[in-house]
Amino acid sequence: MNAHQAINEYHRIRIARAIEVFKLQGFSAEYFESASEAVDHFFSELTAGDVIGYGGSDTVSQLGIRQRLSEGDFNFLDRGKFGHSYDEQLDIRRKTLSADVFIASSNAVSIDGALVNIDGDGNRVAGLSLGPHRVYLFLGRNKLTENMDRAIYRARNVASATLAIQLGKDTPCAKTGVCHDCASPDRICNNLSIIERCNPAGRIRLLFINEDLGL
Ligand code: SF4
Repeated sequence: MNAHQAINEYHRIRIARAIEVFKLQGFSAEYFESASEAVDHFFSELTAGDVIGYGGSDTVSQLGIRQRLSEGDFNFLDRGKFGHSYDEQLDIRRKTLSADVFIASSNAVSIDGALVNIDGDGNRVAGLSLGPHRVYLFLGRNKLTENMDRAIYRARNVASATLAIQLGKDTPCAKTGVCHDCASPDRICNNLSIIERCNPAGRIRLLFINEDLGL
């Protein structure tokens, strides 16, 4: 086994541990060797006419899912479409909460069974918690942490700090790469969500992918 194969096997073992725990907690959880396999699986579960919304996610953008949804026979609530005003975007975010399907990623996933997310206006954490009948989360292997403390650390100091840099925010994390729990008007961390159980069972479907994806 070469180094590349060993790294993949290391992550496969960690993902398998997470899948075992999340299934016990009511989630649907599956393993995919590649992102393209996970995306094909997701599209195979859709039905023509499904109303589909999404939460802000670099992973979802990276996988080209929005493009495929907009070209398909779906009612795709695309808040990122060019030309929407901020108020129109907000309206689409609210409509997303009553969609059939919601897609996103997670800022961090604790192997001991917790999804940790930090959100600016709350649409993503609201969609995860309540609303759409089926939730699909595309989870790159880089999102896994050993426990919830590390997951919260990752959500703040990796995902949020990197997003602040990406968005050009005037926040301390964008300058230092570390969260300062700031009071900046540009702060992007307003809602912290920890989901440990899925109710009703199977509503949240975790697609674990043995690739590094997203922030
Ligand atoms: S709370 Fe402030 S400093 Fe911390 S990650 Fe969020 S925006 Fe950055």
